[in-house]
Amino acid sequence: MPLVIFCGYPSSGKTTRALELQSYLERFLADLAANDGVLPEQFQTPAHPKRNTEIPKMRPKVLLFNDNSFGLVRNEAYQSATEEKKTRGALMSAIERHLTKEDIVICDGMNYIKGFRYQLYCVARALGTPHCAVHCAVSKEQADSWNNAREADSYDPALFEDLCSRFEEPDARNRWDAPLFTVLASDSFTERFGPDIIDAVVLRRPPQPNLSTVVKPSTETNYLYEMDKTTQEIVNALLEAQKGGWFGGDVVVPKTKVKVHISSKGVTLSELRRLRRQFQGLNKMHTQLDMEKVAEGFANYLNTMFSEASGAPRSA
Ligand code: ADP
Ligand code: MG
Repeated sequence: MPLVIFCGYPSSGKTTRALELQSYLERFLADLAANDGVLPEQFQTPAHPKRNTEIPKMRPKVLLFNDNSFGLVRNEAYQSATEEKKTRGALMSAIERHLTKEDIVICDGMNYIKGFRYQLYCVARALGTPHCAVHCAVSKEQADSWNNAREADSYDPALFEDLCSRFEEPDARNRWDAPLFTVLASDSFTERFGPDIIDAVVLRRPPQPNLSTVVKPSTETNYLYEMDKTTQEIVNALLEAQKGGWFGGDVVVPKTKVKVHISSKGVTLSELRRLRRQFQGLNKMHTQLDMEKVAEGFANYLNTMFSEASGAPRSA
């Protein structure tokens, strides 16, 4: 079940929102179990079945981890790079131990470092379980004023300043920060985002384990080799088809049902080489081991590139 990653400035309301989300999710799960898996009406979209008996069967718990979970004193936990590393390490190992397909884990740490959020995301991906990010996006002034109003446990002004300046804002274009829910100071958090979070990460089918996180290096090498071969075969088929008189049309290529459309002007070897190189560059990291998918991807890519050149292939 999902990993929810909170981030934001110090005193931006992360723990407040995280606790709110924890009770909201617990209520949702309890209601689901009590109603024999029948989803509340608002979740009954055409994309979902009306009933989900799998989730109640798992008896999911909603676990929340933050600095308090390890008895850390705030101003000490971040006072030096070494202390901070320990703090992050404690959080990371708790997440690794507790995140399972059954339980929801809320990671309410500082999580201000992009690389750390990426590592958290990898833990979820390796398990084949979804994740999302929640950014408590309040202004620094707002966070500062909430920090000053804290009773006993406010961040020291210097530490507050330091943590704010090092904060690396999440970006939904990064796969480790997506889906991203951006909560403003005035938002009523679970009212506004609770249903979306449930929709996106609780009810959604878990994504396939990301091959790039679980595949061994030898297989990755193999992947590049296979991709090279597959795309070369397609290039060869296209060259072969244009031998003799060429009048334009759809060419059948190896390993995929997708045909490649070539206009009557034809396409040159150097153009095909260039597009093949581009495609390989773009897909180097994907480690898609299914070569039929690679062949289909390349055929679609060629069709797109050819049609973008207004129906005629660009001459190289
Ligand atoms: P963080 O976990 O990001 O450090 P907290 O959730 O602990 O932040 O909140 C910091 C302080 O701000 C707390 O004293 C809390 O009561 C207050 N606070 C948080 N969210 C709000 C809000 N939406 N409105 C008013 N005060 C808030
Ligand atoms: Mg907190």
